Amino acid sequence: MVENRRQRLIAVSNRVPPKASFENQGKGEAAAGGLVTAVRAAMEQSGGLWFGWSGRSTRRRVSAGHTITDFGQIQLATMDLSDDEVSLFYLGYANRTLWPLLHSFPTRVVIRRDTYRAYRRINRRFAETLYPLLQPNDLIWVQDFHLFHLGYELRQLGWQGRLGFFLHVPVPSADVFSILPWAQNTLEALLQYDLVGLHTDRYLRNLVDSLDVELGGEFHVEDGGNYYTYDGHTAQLGVFPIGIDPDAFNPRAHTDTPSLADELMLADMPDRKLILGVDRLDYTKGIPHRLRIFERMLERHPNLGSEVLYVQISSPSRTRVPEYIHEKEQVERLVGQINGRFSQTGWVPIRYLYRSYAQSELANFYHDTDVCLVTPLRDGMNLVAKEFVAAQGEKSPGVLVLSRFTGAAEAMRDAVIVNPYDIEGTAEATYRALRMPVAERRRRNRSLTAVVKRDSSQNWSDSFCAALRRTSIR
Ligand code: UDP
Repeated sequence: MVENRRQRLIAVSNRVPPKASFENQGKGEAAAGGLVTAVRAAMEQSGGLWFGWSGRSTRRRVSAGHTITDFGQIQLATMDLSDDEVSLFYLGYANRTLWPLLHSFPTRVVIRRDTYRAYRRINRRFAETLYPLLQPNDLIWVQDFHLFHLGYELRQLGWQGRLGFFLHVPVPSADVFSILPWAQNTLEALLQYDLVGLHTDRYLRNLVDSLDVELGGEFHVEDGGNYYTYDGHTAQLGVFPIGIDPDAFNPRAHTDTPSLADELMLADMPDRKLILGVDRLDYTKGIPHRLRIFERMLERHPNLGSEVLYVQISSPSRTRVPEYIHEKEQVERLVGQINGRFSQTGWVPIRYLYRSYAQSELANFYHDTDVCLVTPLRDGMNLVAKEFVAAQGEKSPGVLVLSRFTGAAEAMRDAVIVNPYDIEGTAEATYRALRMPVAERRRRNRSLTAVVKRDSSQNWSDSFCAALRRTSIR
């Protein structure tokens, strides 16, 4: 290890942002997601290295090795995986075991020893590849559930510097977490980090519950900080809600990109009310529930008739995982059924778009929307909710209908909060949102805008890094 007094930020994530996003910095590029924007801003201040899987896989076995590319203050270091490793570690343990477990879908959790072993092997290889690149003063910030054991493996190699971890997904209740045969081992590994960050207070309480049930250590609060002590060492646990860069969603910044009316060729239907859903096509997002909610609203309010149009953007995701293939088929079947049932001459109630849009386009779409349905069955935070709020104008803002099972709902109390399992209740809430008077829309939007500005992506990374710097060194 090379001695260097400056405190570099080392971000580690399963996937690193594409090189193009560094090459084009802000020049005509779509804004990046919350994590990328925030971590990159932090790196630009302190200099940094971003390490992760290249996204490439090869047929043969891969040995430890990496590629480094320099982008000014920031270095990008990547390693490859073999096809088998991607299948066991990423498609298997990460996507079919941890993802459904952490999102509280116990019946979808696949338990296989071979995928767990691959996960541990890959976490070790991440550590072995990263370790020689480290300097003693570095601040290491590991992202998300793909790398629970990375901190433990770095400690095994002798790393004594600061180690932070942020979990971007929910923490389920202790009963659900205990389904994982490796729950205890996973939590022991987690406590090797000096600071573990979560999105909400609820997730923090769930984590402490699981730690109590699985490990039986000691939770304590000191000077406003939360700590968990087990087996002779203490980790700090903190709440850092991730956000967005609100300015990037100001539609005035994107006057040269198409509006939703342009995209859907609605010029001749100016009075139509627009309902919008924007999600990755993932079963956690509850798109079939949402379609049934819309269907129920049309059943109960036939007077709505051709007044309303529901636009569902579903961006392709994990297309090789069986559960996602099935979800896509289910969504497409439902769209077909509802459109078949309710369409009239000149009106098809649902426009279903299975594709991705640039965020500059989404900013305009959000702005043109009357009601945004953000109704996941479970979601770590949900940035679409925040982006929608940031894209509203003061004069006639749209209404956010938000599932109580998103992390975003903890702070965004002035959204119309719904339980998406309750189809009837959510259909009524959506109908009321469509009819909401402008004064109430403005009041709610002012309050939500204040939350989105306060919990920005910049604030997320600044506060996490500051807390990590304050942790005492081992
Ligand atoms: N997104 C996008 N293009 C699309 C659909 C979504 O760029 O066509 C972005 C969206 O702007 C948001 C992110 O994908 O920043 C989705 O984040 P969210 O937290 O809502 O859900 P996740 O996909 O991380 O579960």
